[in-house]
Amino acid sequence: MQSLTFIPCSESISPSAMIPEHRLAVLLTQVKQNQILKCIYHNPSTSHSLFADHICDRSQFPLQTILELNNNPGEVWSLEFSHNGRYLATSGEGAVVVIYDLQNFQVRHTLRDHTDHVPFLVWSPDDSKLITCSHDHKAKVWDLAVCDPCVPPFQLLTFLT
Ligand SMILES: [Zn+2]
Repeated sequence: MQSLTFIPCSESISPSAMIPEHRLAVLLTQVKQNQILKCIYHNPSTSHSLFADHICDRSQFPLQTILELNNNPGEVWSLEFSHNGRYLATSGEGAVVVIYDLQNFQVRHTLRDHTDHVPFLVWSPDDSKLITCSHDHKAKVWDLAVCDPCVPPFQLLTFLT
């Protein structure tokens, strides 16, 4: 008499044919993020359900100015919240980058090393550095960790031309 041996299905199927673990959760998260990106009045801080298509009503969007941040020398062309939500970096017309502390909306840092307008900036993933791109043909990486507490001059890590 032949004995039966239990063999899990996963051992009989090539790993290349298997669906990766947690794939459905990844796809559902992507769907939610895509719906948020397409929502032009998106403002809620709570997560939405996938039982219905997501859309925010225009009436939920803030329309009243509660504070003006006016420490940039000209038009603001770029602004970027730090990933931890604590800082807001602004730049644009003029060679100045202003970083606000969002706990009190006071200026935390003013970066003045560029010689022309600064149309773009971005935070590093860990918020320790800020990269600024200027019409002076330079991108600069600012190490904000070395100036805490805020004591200029800031350490300039890299010049790219
Ligand atoms: Zn929305």
